[in-house]
Amino acid sequence: MGEPVFFETHARVAVLTTQPLDRLLTYRAPEGGCWQGAFVEVPLGPRKVLGVVWGPGETGFDASKLRGVSRVLDVAPMRMEMAGFLARVGDYTLTPMPQMLRLATRAPGLTDPPSMRKVYRLGDSVPDRMTGAREKVLAVLEDFGGLAFTLGELAEQAGVTSSVIKGLVKLGAVREEESPRDLPYPALDAQVPGKPLTAAQAAAAARLVEGVRSGAYGTTLLRGVTGSGKTEVYMEAVAETLRRGRQALVLLPEIALTAEFISRVEARFGARPAEWHSGVSMTERRRLWRMAGEGAAPLVVGARSALYLPYRDLGLVVVDEEHDQSYKQEDGVLYSARDMAVMRASLCDARVILASATPSLESWANAEAGKYERVDLAARFGPAVLPELRAIDMRDEDLPANRWISPTLEAHVRDRMAKGEQALLFLNRRGYAPVTICRACGHQIGCDHCDARMVEHRFLKRLVCHQCGETKPMPEACPSCEAEGKLAPVGPGVERLAEEVTERFPEARLAVLSSDLFASARALKEQIGLIAMGGADIIIGTQMVAKGHNFPLLTLVGVIDADLGLQGSDLRAAEKTFQLIRQVAGRAGRAEKPGLALLQTFQPEHPVIRAILSGDEEGFWRAEADERRAAGVPPYGRLAGVVVSAGSAEAAFDLANALARSDQPLRDVGAQLFGPAPAPIARIRGRHRVRLLVKADKGTPLQPALRAWVGQFTPKGDARLSVDIDPQSFY
Ligand code: ADP
Ligand code: ZN
Repeated sequence: MGEPVFFETHARVAVLTTQPLDRLLTYRAPEGGCWQGAFVEVPLGPRKVLGVVWGPGETGFDASKLRGVSRVLDVAPMRMEMAGFLARVGDYTLTPMPQMLRLATRAPGLTDPPSMRKVYRLGDSVPDRMTGAREKVLAVLEDFGGLAFTLGELAEQAGVTSSVIKGLVKLGAVREEESPRDLPYPALDAQVPGKPLTAAQAAAAARLVEGVRSGAYGTTLLRGVTGSGKTEVYMEAVAETLRRGRQALVLLPEIALTAEFISRVEARFGARPAEWHSGVSMTERRRLWRMAGEGAAPLVVGARSALYLPYRDLGLVVVDEEHDQSYKQEDGVLYSARDMAVMRASLCDARVILASATPSLESWANAEAGKYERVDLAARFGPAVLPELRAIDMRDEDLPANRWISPTLEAHVRDRMAKGEQALLFLNRRGYAPVTICRACGHQIGCDHCDARMVEHRFLKRLVCHQCGETKPMPEACPSCEAEGKLAPVGPGVERLAEEVTERFPEARLAVLSSDLFASARALKEQIGLIAMGGADIIIGTQMVAKGHNFPLLTLVGVIDADLGLQGSDLRAAEKTFQLIRQVAGRAGRAEKPGLALLQTFQPEHPVIRAILSGDEEGFWRAEADERRAAGVPPYGRLAGVVVSAGSAEAAFDLANALARSDQPLRDVGAQLFGPAPAPIARIRGRHRVRLLVKADKGTPLQPALRAWVGQFTPKGDARLSVDIDPQSFY
């Protein structure tokens, strides 16, 4: 990578822009010259576009015809290591560089000059007359604890017009002030010691801290049961990183988890870290992007795309709940944030900590192979012990139709309620019922645009397609045979389970946690807080409850359908089920009271169910690893998924068949091609989808072969082709 080069006035420079072009463009350096990596604005046709000075420009044509760089932006230049990182990710994921640059500049207003602007904060007085709109504005300002908003952002966040805010300014309830656009983030005080650690925690923390002190790349898998204090332990590595003046990034799989983490940071280091995720305001994003580059954002907490911020000196990346599916970006640039975190760290002498109670088989295998260090925390912190796990054999339970809570589970829930403790019923299905069937003709209501059944959402009073989001009202008559009053729900979703709970336990306070039932991240956060304080007796939840929330009064977890995840043909079905159910079970008994997890299953002898019950994790991983090794699939082999889509099935198959016929570049490296075949979901949003799968041995240089292979074709018309390296999903 080397040191950046300086280009003198009018020297030729090659500029990478965010425009979809397949090459760099040559310009003349501006008056005063510019550094390699400088963010610039360049003329392109009639427009000015954002770009980065990538290297020396092309020679050999008339310099007088070259246009000049319009302007060098007043932001920190892209570091060579970042340029190298983007190139590596682009190479690995087969993503064109302009798209990579877009990923790395996802902050609005980067080309705006830094200046003053009006911002709005909570004022001192309370208006005499409250209206719903006014309350919303004040609630947003209170919620974001002192953060300032621009007029537009505040109006959008509160869902009111700007005149409401102006009105509140006149009344003194909202303060309007001039503020520089981008302020540094407050320093974090890493000298204050954290909580006293147990001996095991201290030993684990010491190893992580030692890693940070080495100043060299390295990845550690931090494995510890839920509640063992992983966060407490990796916070020590964060503290050491801050003490050394380097930046730290903590990736979390879900926005709902950031609130708790931020309070912990605030309690420990005396100030809030910077946040980066879809719920963060545009102004704040721009500020963070700039401040990361100046080293004025010491700690960033965020979603996977925080990996592409222009850190000045990134010293540590923590990937919490590293096994989580959401680290894989499933549209646009298809990348795994966990894997790319490791790549990024290796390029800038940083450490990576992968934390999980149930690591991915990939990370487990890397630790086995000695590529990652492994640190284990075996016991829960304090008096909390791991919950006991037991199966409820549903073949022996007497359950009427359209009921899902077995008598055994019901008795346990009653027992917990009598003791004033909480019970969680876990069902990983949103909505009321997954299928709506006509009892007259057997027709199942499907989506008009996708090869998927519509899911009834009674709360919304609509049918929803979980593939494309299309909704429609529940029809009175069957769309196929037109019989009236014959449509019936089949199977349970969380809303239907809620109905059953209300009938069986009319006296219980019920909370349903499903991502679609909350209008905002804030409402969800409130509900989670309320539950933690004991504001519910029975909680019904989808997989979002599996992730890291602390419910101290929760002592019983009932898994409604433990067999649900095992039915898929997905190569990770066993792994995912194992992780999900172990995670959910881990929610029980986090405080003094012991927990119990009950799994309703029709196949208690299934190896995965048995592994979950026995808690023999190493045994499970070893068996799973053996199977994958025998099948030559990840992490012991390589896969790439190819999806060809088009408006007609014919067009999609034409391109897919052509690809299949021209697989010489794949065969040259010994890779095998499977397909084409209609994708499991053969139509999404009206587009027909065909899949191909490429399989190769572990060491195969797959990307160049794939590039040569797909490079033979340019999709015609509306056909599209996407390549997913290391696919996680196969729909
Ligand atoms: P994990 O990340 O492994 O789930 P946490 O770090 O969140 O575990 O710890 C679980 C709970 O136990 C938290 O409330 C945490 O504050 C508490 N805890 C863990 N270790 C300690 C400690 N050494 N001293 C005090 N509290 C601790
Ligand atoms: Zn659809």
